Amino acid sequence: MPEISGLLPKKPLLIAIDGPAAAGKGTLAQSLAAGLDLPYLDTGLLYRAIGKLMQIAGLDLDDARAATVVAQRLTPDDLRRTDLRGREAGELASRVAIHPGVRAALVAFQRDFAHGPRGAVLDGRDIGTVICPDADVKLYVTASPEVRARRRTDELLAKGRAVDYEAILTEVKARDERDSGRAEAPLRPADDAVVIDTSALGPDEVLAKALSVVENWQQAR
Ligand code: C5P
Repeated sequence: MPEISGLLPKKPLLIAIDGPAAAGKGTLAQSLAAGLDLPYLDTGLLYRAIGKLMQIAGLDLDDARAATVVAQRLTPDDLRRTDLRGREAGELASRVAIHPGVRAALVAFQRDFAHGPRGAVLDGRDIGTVICPDADVKLYVTASPEVRARRRTDELLAKGRAVDYEAILTEVKARDERDSGRAEAPLRPADDAVVIDTSALGPDEVLAKALSVVENWQQAR
C-alpha cells in the first residue's frame, strides 16, 4: 500500500476521475477517498439507478422525456439500491446517459457533492470536462479494451459465472462507442487531465501514480 498519510489535505481537495468502463477508476477512486479521507461519489450509480427505475416501470429507455422525469425525481435513497452493480445495469445506464435532459437533471447534485467543505472524489465520464472543470486534480484512467474485457471476464469467472471473453469484449467496445460517441458530454480526457493507462499496472501501482499527481499538485500551489 503506497504511503498516503503525509498527503492528507489541509484544505478542500477536489479530485475528478474519468475513464471508460472497467479501467479501474472505481477502485482507484475508493482508495484515494479512503486514504485522503474525502467523501466519494460514484456518479455511474446515478445513471444506473435511472436505467433500473425505468426498466422496472416498463418505460422506454429511448424516451428522453420519460428518462428526464425519472432523473429529476431521483433521490439519494435510489442510489442505495442493491441491483445497480453488474453489466445489465451498466448497459441500461449508458442508454439513458445519452439524453441531455437526464444529464442536466444530475448536474446540481454532483456539483453540490463536489463542493462540500472537505472537497471530494468523483468518478464518471464527464467529471473533469463538464461537472467539475474546476477540479484541483483530474485523472483520466484508461486501459485497452482487451485488458478491460479480460479483467471483467476474470471477475465474473471468479464469481462462478459462465462468461465468454469475446462477448464481453464486444460489450466493452460497444459501451465505449456509446459513451465516447454521444453528442452530450462525451467521454474524453479533459485537456488538463493526467492520463493513467492501467493496462500493465496493478491497483497499488495505479494508486501510487495517482498519489504522485496529488502530491505534485499540493507542492505546486
Ligand atoms: O461508471 P459506470 O460503469 O457505473 O457507468 C455506467 C454508465 O453510466 C456509463 O457507461 C455511462 O454511459 C454513464 N455515465 C455517464 N456519466 C457519468 C457516469 C456514468 O454518462 N459521469
